[in-house]
Amino acid sequence: MAPFLYPPSIFIVFFSSLYYFISHITERGVMSYKVYARRFRPVGFEEVIGQEHVVETLKRALQKQSVAHAYVFCGTRGVGKTSMARILAKALNCDSGPTDTPCGVCPSCTAIAAGNSFDVVEVDGASNNGVEQIRDLRDSVAYGTYEGKYKVYVIDEVHMLSRGAFNAFLKTLEEPPERVVFVLATTEPHKIPDTILSRCQRFDFKALSTKALQTHLEDLCTQEDIPFERDAISLIAKKAQGSVRDSLSLLEQCYAFSAKGLTRDSVACALGVIADDVYGAILSAVSKRSAETALEELQAVLDAGYNLKEFVLGFMEYLRRILCNYVQDTTFSYLSFRQGDILRCIELLRQCEFDMQRSSLPDFQVELTVIKMCSLDTLITLEDLLQQGQDHTAPTVHHKEESIPSVGSKAEKDVSPQVKKEERAVASETTYTPAPIPPDEAREVAEERVPCEAEEPAETTEASHAMEHGVYTPDNHEKAQVFWREFLQFASNKKPVMGAWLELGRVIAFTENSIDVRFSPMHSFQQMELANPKNRAVLEELLREYSGSALTLHITTEAEVPQDSSAPPVSEESGDSTGGEPVYTGHEASLQDEVAREPIIKDVLELFDGELL
Ligand SMILES: [Zn+2]
Repeated sequence: MAPFLYPPSIFIVFFSSLYYFISHITERGVMSYKVYARRFRPVGFEEVIGQEHVVETLKRALQKQSVAHAYVFCGTRGVGKTSMARILAKALNCDSGPTDTPCGVCPSCTAIAAGNSFDVVEVDGASNNGVEQIRDLRDSVAYGTYEGKYKVYVIDEVHMLSRGAFNAFLKTLEEPPERVVFVLATTEPHKIPDTILSRCQRFDFKALSTKALQTHLEDLCTQEDIPFERDAISLIAKKAQGSVRDSLSLLEQCYAFSAKGLTRDSVACALGVIADDVYGAILSAVSKRSAETALEELQAVLDAGYNLKEFVLGFMEYLRRILCNYVQDTTFSYLSFRQGDILRCIELLRQCEFDMQRSSLPDFQVELTVIKMCSLDTLITLEDLLQQGQDHTAPTVHHKEESIPSVGSKAEKDVSPQVKKEERAVASETTYTPAPIPPDEAREVAEERVPCEAEEPAETTEASHAMEHGVYTPDNHEKAQVFWREFLQFASNKKPVMGAWLELGRVIAFTENSIDVRFSPMHSFQQMELANPKNRAVLEELLREYSGSALTLHITTEAEVPQDSSAPPVSEESGDSTGGEPVYTGHEASLQDEVAREPIIKDVLELFDGELL
C-alpha cells in the first residue's frame, strides 16, 4: 500500500497510516457527512459534464501515451478543472494504466479519489504565491517519482503567483523530470505570463448552459429520490450561472430548507428569489401609469429585505420571458404593453443596474426607474404616427398667401411641414409656416441675432450668398460645407488655438443667420472654452469678418439640446427676426440626427411628444 512505503521515516509512516485510517472511515460515511459538491464529484472521464472537448483530447493523449508535461486548465469557478486534474492523475497512475478508463477501485485510484495519494500534490497558488514556496516545490519535483508512477502537481489559482514565483517556476516547467505532470488551474488565464502559457497545453473549460445544469440536477434528484418540480430545478440552474459546484451547493441548500421536496416556491424562498407575482403587480401599476401603486409594491420588496440587485436582475428576467412570448407568438398580449414597451422597460432596468453600481443611493435609482417606467408613453408604430400626423396636421407646404394652419391649443407643435422630396425641389418658391415662439425666448433670440439684410455686408462670398437663399438642396449643402472648411482655415490663421478646437466640433445645422456646432462629450473642455461668451464673441467677429454676415454661433455638446436647432423653420417674409430655416444638414451628422431632422419625422415627434428609438 503506497502510503506505508513512502519515505523511510517513521514519523511519516505513522502519520500517513493515521491519515489513511481516518480517511478510510470517512469514506464509508461513518465519521462525517460529505457535501453534495464533493459527493457528486466526477470520478471518471465519462462523468464529467459539459467539457467534452477536454475529455476527448485527454483521452486521445492517454491512448497514444503522449500526455504533455504541463497543462493549463482555465475556466470559471466550479466547472470541473480540479476534478479533471484528479481524473487525469488516476488515468496515469491506475494499476492498469496509463489508461483512458481508470478502474476507480485499485489502491492508486481510491487514494487519489480520497485525496490522500502521494502521487497527487495540490498546491493553492493563492496562499503559496511567493518565490520561496515555488523553490520548495521545485526541490520536491527534483526527487522524481516512485515506482514508475506519475506525479501530478495541481497548482490551483496559479494566476496568483508573484512574478518572481513564475520566474522561479519557469525552468522546472520547461524541463521537468520524467513522469511529472503539472496542471495549472486558473479562473484568470490572462494574468499568467506568456512565457508560462507557451510551455503548456491550454484547455478552456466552458461554463455550463442552464439546460445542461438542469438535466444534471434532475438526474441527481431522481437518483437520490428527491421529489422536485421542474421549475424549482430551473431556478437553481439559472442561479448557478454555469457552475456545477454552485448548482450542487444550491440544490443541497434548497433541499435542507424544504426536506419534503423542491417546489418552485420553496426554492424561490430559500434562494431569496422574488416571486413573479411581485413583478406582475408592478407591471400592472406601470400599465395603468400609477406610479404611486408601483412604488408601494417596490417598497414592499425593499421592506422584505430583498437584495436590490437581485430585484433588478429578476425584473429583467421576468420581462425577458414576456418578450420571448411576444417574439414567439405575434398574437401574444401582456396587459396593455406592446413589444417595444417591454424592450424600453428592459433598457431602463439595464441602465438602472449600471447606475446602481456607481450610486450611493441605489434604492433611489430603482425608484426612479419605476417612476420612469410609469411615465413611458405607449409605443406607437411609425406607420400609425404618420397616419395620425396626416390626419391631424395642416398642409405642409403652402404658398406665402396661405393662412397659418392651427390645430388645438398646441399650435406651436402642430405646424408641421410635411415636405415630400419632390416638393423640396421647389422649396425656394414656397415657404414654411412660422412657428410662434414663446415671447421670452423670442426676445432673447432677437437680441442675439441680427438679420443678414440689416447688416449691409461689405463683401459677400459665394458661400454666404448661397446661404441667403433658404433653399434646402444638396447643392447648397456642398457650398455650406466649402464655406465651413474655408472658414476653419481662416479662423486657424487668425486664432490658431481656437481654430484647432473648432475643428473638433461638427456642424449640425447651418441657417442663414446661425451655425450650430456640436462637440462630443470627449471634447467638452474645448466646447466649454469656445462657448464662453468672450471666446464666442471673438469667433462670431471672425465669422462676420470672413462672410460679411452676422452669424450666431451655437456651440453645444451632444448631451445638450440647443433650443434654436429644434425651432421650426421661419419664412423669410414672416417679419420674424428669430430662428432660421435649416438649409443644410451636414453629412457628418449622425444618422440619428439626420432622421430627427427630417421635417416630417421631427414634426411627428413634436406633435406627439415622441422620442426616436
Ligand atoms: Zn485504478
